[in-house]
Amino acid sequence: MKKLYLTTAQLKSEMQRCLYCAEKPCMKACPANCSPADFITTAKADTQEAYTRAAGLILKANPLGQMCGLTCPDQFCMKACSRQHLDVPIKIPAVQAAILEKARSFGPLEAPEKVASNGRNIAVVGAGPAGMGAAAVLARKGYSVTVFEGSGKVGGAAKLIPDARLPYEVIEKDWEYIKTFGDITWQMNHRVANPVDLLKDGYDGVIVAVGEPHSAKMGIPGESLAVSFMDYLTDPEKYKTTGYVAVLGGGAVAVDCAVTAKDNGAENVEMFVRRRIPDMKLTAEERSWLLDKMVDITSMTRVEKIEEIDGTYTLYTCKTRFNGTKLEDIPDTTIKRPGFAHVIMAVGSIADPKTEAEKVIYAGDCSHGGSTIVEAVASGKNAANELHAAITGEIEEAVCPVSRIVTYKAKSCTVVEGVEKHEPAS
Ligand SMILES: Cc1cc2nc3c(=O)[nH]c(=O)nc-3n(C[C@H](O)[C@H](O)[C@H](O)COP(=O)(O)OP(=O)(O)OC[C@H]3O[C@@H](n4cnc5c(N)ncnc54)[C@H](O)[C@@H]3O)c2cc1C
Ligand code: SF4
Repeated sequence: MKKLYLTTAQLKSEMQRCLYCAEKPCMKACPANCSPADFITTAKADTQEAYTRAAGLILKANPLGQMCGLTCPDQFCMKACSRQHLDVPIKIPAVQAAILEKARSFGPLEAPEKVASNGRNIAVVGAGPAGMGAAAVLARKGYSVTVFEGSGKVGGAAKLIPDARLPYEVIEKDWEYIKTFGDITWQMNHRVANPVDLLKDGYDGVIVAVGEPHSAKMGIPGESLAVSFMDYLTDPEKYKTTGYVAVLGGGAVAVDCAVTAKDNGAENVEMFVRRRIPDMKLTAEERSWLLDKMVDITSMTRVEKIEEIDGTYTLYTCKTRFNGTKLEDIPDTTIKRPGFAHVIMAVGSIADPKTEAEKVIYAGDCSHGGSTIVEAVASGKNAANELHAAITGEIEEAVCPVSRIVTYKAKSCTVVEGVEKHEPAS
């Protein structure tokens, strides 16, 4: 896996390549509306003041700027970067992370100017990226914000990202800065059973940002013998082994499980994937980690059953094939794969059902399904603006989560058969 931050020389040479495009395609592609064109122009002066000002620009648009810098996939700003027409896109997320790390190394960043209280209270349920983003926007509008978090730490699903990619201290750095934005209090280890009830407790509005807290099931015999990716990534030490590990699933989360198992000493790690290897929705970087770590991928294979035999796990697998676009099992191809010390299941996650109510707004993965940190923070910002509009009638800018254009919406944006529909603010 690559090192965490660009060196100073790499940072400067990446910034030198920026074309400072007047139309800022990189900003338009950013779900959080952050402007690489501007923060690179600013940081390029290469002084302490320049880095600090650039950090301020990043965090104003995206309060989770350093987390996103380390984890954003190449599908947003980098995909839009004009430099790709000359050679390769600027490594914008890496530049962003390096600028923030540098600026913070000079000392704590200056807190934004205090905003007068507007006398209203908002509850934010969930301290993942969406809840953190919503709390940041609401505090800057003068609300008293109380964040309720079911676990003992902020960060949500981002806490499961291995330290080699996102050390927990980076989540803390972004959260410490958000806490300077205004009146934010937090109650950890406080699970909210029904967010709508918070309105009866005197809150003027509620943001629900609870993510997808349940691991998806495969519905196969013996699946309770497998460990879920959530349990595995929360405490990989507990499952440390020098034996063989099977990972069921072929997405980015399965890759994190496979790489972590290999780093933790497993002799062999094998991913079982129902589709073809090119169908796996992975970035080039994620594919290269699998190669670096020599993780095996057994594709076009479905696991039918898991059994425990003499203290190890046996998988029963069958081959799959495409019938048109439909994937089906090939009859009579079942084989036994014995000897796994652990079987890790990483086939997705599921949200709880929503309870709709006025001034209760859903944000992040629980609202639009599994996504990325930057999309969750953008959704949290939009939800905060939407709630502010519902409470005060003032319509704020919001960035459409689909097209990334500014919609001035108070409602949602949907795409039906490829056509985007913005429900206008009433
Ligand atoms: C292993 C893994 C790797 C990932 N890698 C990347 C990556 O490289 N790049 C990237 O951009 N994204 C990545 N993601 C996705 C990213 O982490 C999520 O999209 C993002 O965290 C979603 O944010 P959220 O705030 O909507 O939900 P979550 O992050 O799930 O946060 C929800 C929070 O709500 C809390 N909660 C739930 N129910 C309640 C309740 N009833 N009361 C109180 N609190 C509650 C939870 O404890 C949690 O803290 C990864 C995810 C995983 C699991
Ligand atoms: S699109 Fe790329 S080259 Fe153009 S301003 Fe943004 S980062 Fe620089």
